[in-house]
Amino acid sequence: MSKLKLALVLLLVLIGAVIAFHQSIISAVILPQYINWASDTEAAGVQQGEPLNAAQLEIAKEIGIKQPEKVRLVYVDAVPFPYHNPMLKLVGEATGFIGEGVINNAQVFGYSIYVRKDYPLTTPKLAHELVHVLQIERASLKQVITQHFADLLKYGYDNSPLEREAFEANKTYGNR
Ligand SMILES: [Zn+2]
Repeated sequence: MSKLKLALVLLLVLIGAVIAFHQSIISAVILPQYINWASDTEAAGVQQGEPLNAAQLEIAKEIGIKQPEKVRLVYVDAVPFPYHNPMLKLVGEATGFIGEGVINNAQVFGYSIYVRKDYPLTTPKLAHELVHVLQIERASLKQVITQHFADLLKYGYDNSPLEREAFEANKTYGNR
């Protein structure tokens, strides 16, 4: 076998391994980087965001958040994403999480709820995001990101258990 052929075979084996183990590679290598970035994003949001008003605090309590006074609303031009990290950007694009025409209206990082300025955060929509805060308060940001990522691959966005739970709040608070 020529050296070139050998190199090609090795490359194919490598690609095969990456495809076969992509989920564990993502979990082991890429996910921790996202989790670190998300923790920093939560910390930054807690610093710059605004606390819930009295009516919003009531909803947070009703939903079951133990420390609703910690929640911050962070209004931004665009919900942040770690674009500076090429691997995360690649995974984000491959999963349709970011990319042309994709708009992320709101995302929860622990006690920080990042909301796009032009997005009307109605009561049912706030309630939905508060359920995500509750999910993270119940477990941890790391645990929720890890579970949610595995769920997205398994069930897709609409049917992922954490989203289904949050969409229940859209119904409950639909008329408020
Ligand atoms: Zn959601």
